[in-house]
Amino acid sequence: MSDDYKEKDNILEDIDKEKSEKENKEKDSYEEVCYICRRPESKVGKMLRIPNNICICSDCMQKTFDTINSNGMPYMDLMGLNPNMMNLNNIQKDVPKNQKLKKKKTEEERAEAPKTFDIKNIPSPHVIKGKLDDFVVGQEQAKKILSVAVYNHYKRVATDTMDDIEIEKSNVLMIGPTGSGKTFLVKTLAKLLDVPLAITDATSLTEAGYIGDDVESVVSKLLAAADNDVEKAENGIIFIDEIDKIAKKKNTNNRDVSGESVQQGLLKLLEGSEVEVPVGATSKNAMVPLTTVNTKNILFICGGAFPDLDTIIKSRLNKQSSIGFSADLKDKYDSDPNLLLKVTVEDLREFGMIPEFLGRLPIMFSLEGLTRDMLIKILKEPRNAILKQYQKLLALDEVCLEFDDAALEAIAEKAMEKKTGARALRAIIEDFMLDIMYEIPKDINIGKVTITRDYIEKKGVPQIEMRGSHYSNFLLEGNN
Ligand code: ADP
Repeated sequence: MSDDYKEKDNILEDIDKEKSEKENKEKDSYEEVCYICRRPESKVGKMLRIPNNICICSDCMQKTFDTINSNGMPYMDLMGLNPNMMNLNNIQKDVPKNQKLKKKKTEEERAEAPKTFDIKNIPSPHVIKGKLDDFVVGQEQAKKILSVAVYNHYKRVATDTMDDIEIEKSNVLMIGPTGSGKTFLVKTLAKLLDVPLAITDATSLTEAGYIGDDVESVVSKLLAAADNDVEKAENGIIFIDEIDKIAKKKNTNNRDVSGESVQQGLLKLLEGSEVEVPVGATSKNAMVPLTTVNTKNILFICGGAFPDLDTIIKSRLNKQSSIGFSADLKDKYDSDPNLLLKVTVEDLREFGMIPEFLGRLPIMFSLEGLTRDMLIKILKEPRNAILKQYQKLLALDEVCLEFDDAALEAIAEKAMEKKTGARALRAIIEDFMLDIMYEIPKDINIGKVTITRDYIEKKGVPQIEMRGSHYSNFLLEGNN
């Protein structure tokens, strides 16, 4: 018996040791930051560590001594403070982890470490698309274009430069109605490629110096997503949503600080340049350390709904087709649901995007508006479809949940009315599933619930089957 205890103790000790080693290793891989000037160790050299985990660089230390030597501490006398009151315990205990930078690798370490993107490791476009197919319904053309763009981008990252032929950056512009899956596509893509992803909103960006976030804040978000590891962030993806909100404002006499100026500010990031970004914050100030990130290998994907862009496209198409023998009817394009697919750079310029900005987003495509059939598929087909999630929840109570086809159609029709794309589906389902999730666990004899169209339209109740012959079938299916 005592041997058993000893063995257990040994195992626990080993686990503790392993844990502390891991923690130390993690600590080691982050740099210290000077408490006064906020520059990291790699810039200022070795630092002096004083109690409470505070580090001070030699420059700041020297400056402090110089001040004290020449003036004593006059400002403290003026304020009526006693210099002895300065107690280190009152000072903030440690630099927050989100402001610590991951150490850069040395040349040797870099040579030894496996390359993040080896040309042979990059999944080819059909593999990327195949994986996207598991999660994203429809949008075939968009998935295809995105897979090729991402493949080429990471090929460019892997090769760096190919002799004198330098592959140009392939940033992406995605146009699509709200709820059509823009963010979802990018999120899925980043997860598949296992690269850091930052999602930001263009509406919060303003020209530097004005209230709002500077354009560099998008890079600092990516840095945070990469655990402050600059090298990892430099291969990441930045998704800027609501890009249409930074279109040039028409008929304005004021300075356009959140429109055209933001587009101008983004130019150098999109093209690839070294930017100084704050670590652990979205704006630069004296209390946050800065670091330099190169955006050369960061893939920028911009997305927006571009409301009223269809009117611009329509008027262009009507103008083209109203001349000559091939003249068409004026309302030919009025009912075209996929007008956005016909977008050109000229239309976007007309909308208010500046040519320099569009020039840096060479890959441009539109997503289709979701149809009723697509919404039905979104409900049941993707790997983590909403219906599958509810079925799993009820299966834990050993209840089988089914939706008949008419019910699915009713849900999709209701979602279409809301005009918020697939986003409406969840709200509708949550609404009527509440009663089911509340009532079903009350009665352990219930074996199967079928949701009908009448129930969705609040004209009837769901069909309930008690446990019996069906129950055994259900269990068998579950075991398979
Ligand atoms: P937006 O185009 O406005 O960025 P989102 O990508 O945020 O829209 O979509 C909202 C939600 O709708 C997503 O979380 C996803 O679950 C679902 N969705 C949208 N489009 C699709 C699609 N084509 N396939 C599967 N799910 C989708």
